[in-house]
Amino acid sequence: MGMGRKGNSYSWLSLCLLGSTIVNIYFLSDLLCNDGKVKVKVSWSEEGAAKAEEVAAINCSNHGRAYLDGMINEDGKPVCECHTCYAGSDCSLSSPDCAADADSGDPLFLENFWMHHASSSAVLISGWHRMSYNFPGLTAISEVLDSHIRHLHHVAKNALTEGKYIVFGGGSTQLLNAAVYALSANLSSPASVVAAVPSYPLYKTQTDFFQNKNYAFKGDASLMSNASYANTNVIEFVTSPNNPDGNLKEAVCKGPCVRAIYDHAYFWPHFTAIPSPADEDVMIFTISKLTGHAGSRFGWALVKDKEVYNNMMTYISVAEMGISRETQIRALQLMKAILRGDGKEIFDYAFEKMSDRWGKLSQIFSKSKRFSIQEIPPLYCNFFDKVRGPSPGYAWVKCEREEDLDCTRVLREANIIGRAGSKFSVDDRHVRLSLLKGDDDFNLLLNHLEKLVDEEGVPEAVSSF
Ligand code: PMP
Repeated sequence: MGMGRKGNSYSWLSLCLLGSTIVNIYFLSDLLCNDGKVKVKVSWSEEGAAKAEEVAAINCSNHGRAYLDGMINEDGKPVCECHTCYAGSDCSLSSPDCAADADSGDPLFLENFWMHHASSSAVLISGWHRMSYNFPGLTAISEVLDSHIRHLHHVAKNALTEGKYIVFGGGSTQLLNAAVYALSANLSSPASVVAAVPSYPLYKTQTDFFQNKNYAFKGDASLMSNASYANTNVIEFVTSPNNPDGNLKEAVCKGPCVRAIYDHAYFWPHFTAIPSPADEDVMIFTISKLTGHAGSRFGWALVKDKEVYNNMMTYISVAEMGISRETQIRALQLMKAILRGDGKEIFDYAFEKMSDRWGKLSQIFSKSKRFSIQEIPPLYCNFFDKVRGPSPGYAWVKCEREEDLDCTRVLREANIIGRAGSKFSVDDRHVRLSLLKGDDDFNLLLNHLEKLVDEEGVPEAVSSF
């Protein structure tokens, strides 16, 4: 009898165990997909994800893109935003005679890379994501993003981060003035802010715009390198590699009263050889030219000195109360996507792309006597561990004919829009052409340039035969 009851309870227990195993297997199979990766059953995110994919699938003939926040048509669907020189509801109509716009440094050259990494780079943000002003610990900075940035520099071998503080900014644009503010905060006399020409125009624009009794923009750094300025407080912007000409730069001004802000927007294997990891006191980077996400407005500064760091943090806090959490989560997702595997794919891809563009452009200019472009010597690269050729973000074109004083106009007449040398504080014999834009823009630029150079006629050396 007792045995029988025991037997019954054993079979009851076995049944329960079997039942629970089946339930567990059911739930586990819900969590695990075939390759063993955790797959959570989606619920609230399904609608958002479906909408994102629906818009991404809108056909814009590869000459445009539709976006979730784009204008909508009469059916309530976002319309295609066509690339320059393309039109029509699906962007299929091209107008080859339209001008090639190589003016802005809009870094769309990596769009295809991200299309190929659609799932690893996508972020879905819940309605309640980080609504607070702060992260835990009352900080405005994602520590996980901070550590990913350090890891990325380690992989790219382009900057030493150990012992340095990180400041996040609304694009590197915001950090440029934050650094000027920080470096000029406690000086006995106002600082002269300078940059060696040709120089990125925003340094002057910003310094003048945010004018302050602590600093003033004083133009070309080479004018300040003179010994008579030895006791002047100087803040020098050093753009390395330089925008517009792509050359690596060092500070021109030297001395105990000189502080440098290294703008390393382009100091990635995409655009330059990395001779060794940078280790300056104040260095500024941006995702705009690293991943191409200029629209996310995210940059960071690596800062050695604690007081300078504190001053920069004060600036960001007063101006902005920290950087948008949506921007930070997107930047984090992009960094995670980049760092998958050995983390080198984006650098290989971007270098190939930019050096291919430079090769095609150089080929065209090599046939010209009327125009020349900058020379960038091959250099040993710490990242690739070999000597590598140039792959700059811009062509710095010079009109060689005596009468072509306004090179921007010469190119404009050939249907090419560039940025005048005077914008970079040099003569207008120079003009900058952006090589960073999407394939459509770049290909049109090549077509128009080729036509222009072909029109120069038979080269003299050949005609003298
Ligand atoms: N520095 C340099 C040299 C640049 O060329 C640019 C963008 N054109 C910036 C800074 C600003 O970049 P962002 O604000 O997008 O980070």
